[in-house]
Amino acid sequence: MLLIGNWKMNGLATALGEAETIAAAAEAALQQGIQLALCPPATLLRTLSHHVAGTPLLTGGQDCHVEHFGAYTGDISAAMIKDAGAHYVIVGHSERRQNHHETSMLVQRKAQTAIEVGLVPILCIGEHRSQRDVGQAESYVLGQLQASLPELGSNAQIIIAYEPIWAVGTGLVPSLADLSSMYQAIFSFLETRLGNKVNSVRLLYGGSVTQNNISDLVKLNHIDGALVGGASLTAASFLSILNEVCN
Ligand code: PEP
Repeated sequence: MLLIGNWKMNGLATALGEAETIAAAAEAALQQGIQLALCPPATLLRTLSHHVAGTPLLTGGQDCHVEHFGAYTGDISAAMIKDAGAHYVIVGHSERRQNHHETSMLVQRKAQTAIEVGLVPILCIGEHRSQRDVGQAESYVLGQLQASLPELGSNAQIIIAYEPIWAVGTGLVPSLADLSSMYQAIFSFLETRLGNKVNSVRLLYGGSVTQNNISDLVKLNHIDGALVGGASLTAASFLSILNEVCN
């Protein structure tokens, strides 16, 4: 099981203490089969990775450029994220797709570049509320997955995070029945596309995860953990989610 915190554009140097508190719980979590990770803003990534080195807490970037280096002012390459000590990088988060007009074709290239430099991409997919309301959630999500999924070589790893856009940061969560059906659809798609390699893909849920809903979510078939936004910003709330999973 995986619990990954996405700090988004939150966290100054004072937030490093939260990461250290989380890191102190990471060994006991791992012994219970739960891998913890944090994706801080790029400005904290190297320092945070350094602070938690030697603990099982892994780190990740929140986005990467498709090129390895070059004249792309303000952008950060996958190689730089790896160099800063990260293990993961989020690609295709709905906030990037919406606010930066990222297409699935671009997201696929980002995921491919991440794999090339040895990072594990956390590929986000998810539908708008309007698509769910007209019964098109699964077809939209599978289309997005098909267009965003990179080629996976024999040792490549990837994490797919299903995050309904209308559930991110809203306090809303899909029904367990809708989630079951969505994860079955995603798993079947991956099985057809990847064959046996499907077993190396981990599937996360993201969207308003808290200590109150995590237990029900991770009981569902094919959900291997959660990508947590708001509730990962303090050690107290992130570790309360961990405690629920451990109980
Ligand atoms: C996220 O940022 O990926 C996310 C799921 O946010 P939140 O948990 O705040 O909904």
